[in-house]
Amino acid sequence: MAEFDVAIAGAGIVGVSAALWARMRGLSVVLIDPAAPGSGTSYGNACTLATYGCLPVNDPAVLRDLPTLLFGRDSPLSISWRHALRHPRWMLTFLANCRAGPSGRIAAQLATLLAHADGGLNPLIEAAGAQDLVKARGQLTVWSTGKAGEAAEAGLARRRALGVSWREVSAAEAREMEPGLVLPVARAVLFDDARHVSDPEALVQRFHARFTELGGESVVAQVSEMRERGDGVEVVAGGQVIGAGRAVVAAGAFSGRIAGAGTARLPLGTERGYHLQFGHDVRRVARPVGWAEGGFYASPMARGTRLAGTVEIAGLEAAANRGRLAYLRRRGEEMLGPLPGPESEWLGFRPTLPDSLPVIGVRPGAERIIHAFGHQHLGLTLGGVTGRIVADLAEGRQPNIDISGLRADRRFWGA
Ligand SMILES: Cc1cc2nc3c(=O)[nH]c(=O)nc-3n(C[C@H](O)[C@H](O)[C@H](O)COP(=O)(O)OP(=O)(O)OC[C@H]3O[C@@H](n4cnc5c(N)ncnc54)[C@H](O)[C@@H]3O)c2cc1C
Repeated sequence: MAEFDVAIAGAGIVGVSAALWARMRGLSVVLIDPAAPGSGTSYGNACTLATYGCLPVNDPAVLRDLPTLLFGRDSPLSISWRHALRHPRWMLTFLANCRAGPSGRIAAQLATLLAHADGGLNPLIEAAGAQDLVKARGQLTVWSTGKAGEAAEAGLARRRALGVSWREVSAAEAREMEPGLVLPVARAVLFDDARHVSDPEALVQRFHARFTELGGESVVAQVSEMRERGDGVEVVAGGQVIGAGRAVVAAGAFSGRIAGAGTARLPLGTERGYHLQFGHDVRRVARPVGWAEGGFYASPMARGTRLAGTVEIAGLEAAANRGRLAYLRRRGEEMLGPLPGPESEWLGFRPTLPDSLPVIGVRPGAERIIHAFGHQHLGLTLGGVTGRIVADLAEGRQPNIDISGLRADRRFWGA
């Protein structure tokens, strides 16, 4: 007899959202993680609820600008060649998906999911009484050179065609909205519907607190294995074996490390990203401002300002790259003027499949195991809706969103 209806491995935004949704539906739930809720990648991100973020990093421009991106001193992208040579499959599949056809299909899939993002997140925000952490001030993207601003046209048109709302903002208006910007502004666009979270870790903690209040249980342990047995799953965590009707893999970039979960052979990689967090005395922006050429955001936080972003392909094991933190600081000062020493420096691991789509759905051939990971740059935004889909699947119901293209046995090459 299973002890729980659902056992969830991973207490990031995805796992905790799934736990709260499932508990709100009346299921008995255990959430298992060796670390504190929200302390992984969900802690250090750029805080945007990026409902506009349907364009994947797999973009034809990556192929066109590859030499500059790889070797330019001011490139927001960095690749460890050692890592790339050891993992050629991920790299080549990622690049193959930068072609116009796959890139367009990925954007359409992401847009469909993103259209449901707020609907999946808002009920959790309300249930957890976390409205104070969510701000509706839009997101401003700026281009500092005319050439880059013009090159963005096709992508902006593509977003509009996929239902994303944005409006052009003059340089003067952008400066009025964000007087802290010292960067030249050649073009600026406001995504009016976007919101941001003033403290993403606190958001996950609030969701977790509500889950606990509703009777959800938590276990501090690392899940090493999931075994389907009869009408349930045995989840091996630390020294214990926990029985559940269904088990959920929501361990972010580490989801490939759970034996028996059907994840070990998936091309789950990581796009590493960094942040610098400045304290109360640094208040330079009113909303997240993305500097397109810089590849990062300046985001207003409850505790100051955070610079977060960039992409580094170097795997889960390599130490933090000081050069990437120096890049963020140097470019941050170009954007916002002189900055004091940061309160914290952080390296985080975006869980990324080479087609930039998450894996969400039942494990092919083992329907008591549910996959929910791989949210790349969009996990904070998509955690809520993913949680709702997981709750549907855990109840044995068909979600009202078509997730057939997100299965683990999809074709990753050519999306
Ligand atoms: C620099 C940067 C900026 C970003 N900005 C944004 C943004 O503005 N907006 C946005 O939407 N997204 C953003 N993202 C992406 C977003 O942060 C991630 O997609 C999201 O946090 C992933 O959530 P998760 O729950 O899957 O993973 P995590 O938050 O990493 O949680 C996974 C959890 O699983 C646990 N775990 C690992 N192994 C096991 C195991 N074996 N057993 C049990 N538990 C395990 C870990 O301890 C961890 O707590 C950004 C990411 C980075 C790096």
